[in-house]
Amino acid sequence: MILIGLTGGIGSGKSTVSSLLAKHGAVIIDADAITRELQAPGAPLLTVLAERFGAHILDTEGGLIREELAKIAFSDPDALKDLNKIVHPAVAKEMDRRMTEVRDTDKVVVLDIPLLAENPRKGLCGVVVVDVPVDVAVSRLTEFRGMKEDDARSRIAKQASREERLKIADQVIDNSGDLSTLSTQVDAVWAWAAQLPPAVHDAGSREGDESATDKS
Ligand code: ATP
Repeated sequence: MILIGLTGGIGSGKSTVSSLLAKHGAVIIDADAITRELQAPGAPLLTVLAERFGAHILDTEGGLIREELAKIAFSDPDALKDLNKIVHPAVAKEMDRRMTEVRDTDKVVVLDIPLLAENPRKGLCGVVVVDVPVDVAVSRLTEFRGMKEDDARSRIAKQASREERLKIADQVIDNSGDLSTLSTQVDAVWAWAAQLPPAVHDAGSREGDESATDKS
């Protein structure tokens, strides 16, 4: 397995880049998608969240009311800490399980992790950062995602800065242009990734998380 970390700010174009890399044959392990799967209606993690934050975060079908949970988490630092303590290890475990499935293959495996600069991973063969000016991210989030401008700006402000992210980059994709310019850059990143030496055995676990390599 050649293990690549892919990151970028909210709305920078990580999912778009992931889809283009998948077309080349990359295996994508997407932290946000896994988080959503683990929080699907009826998922065991929701019971744990409801025990900590109250049954009102669930609708009558047992689905998560994301706005309710976000309201609690973003107004109380202790609640946010607890939320992270519940969700992050579950997501990390599932990402680890998916990596284990392909660890002994020659595949290029892309870990799509929005907060990679904030939460580094061990042993990545390389890191790709998708970079856009804040105004471009905001305009895409408002135009294509229906997000309010204030909301987009406040979410961006809570993440690492562009500069902090660029510091961990081996390859930078500038996604301020159109989709065909993006696609050309992704082709070059694929060619770079495919020739990297394979990852060492415990690659991909979180730095400082010794339990992450314990598969029991
Ligand atoms: P998030 O952090 O919210 O998961 P993301 O980094 O995965 O976002 P995308 O979902 O890939 O970002 O892109 C955000 C929006 O911008 C999407 O609607 C996507 O289709 C659009 N987009 C991405 N790149 C471009 C581009 N070069 N030109 C125009 N639109 C783009």
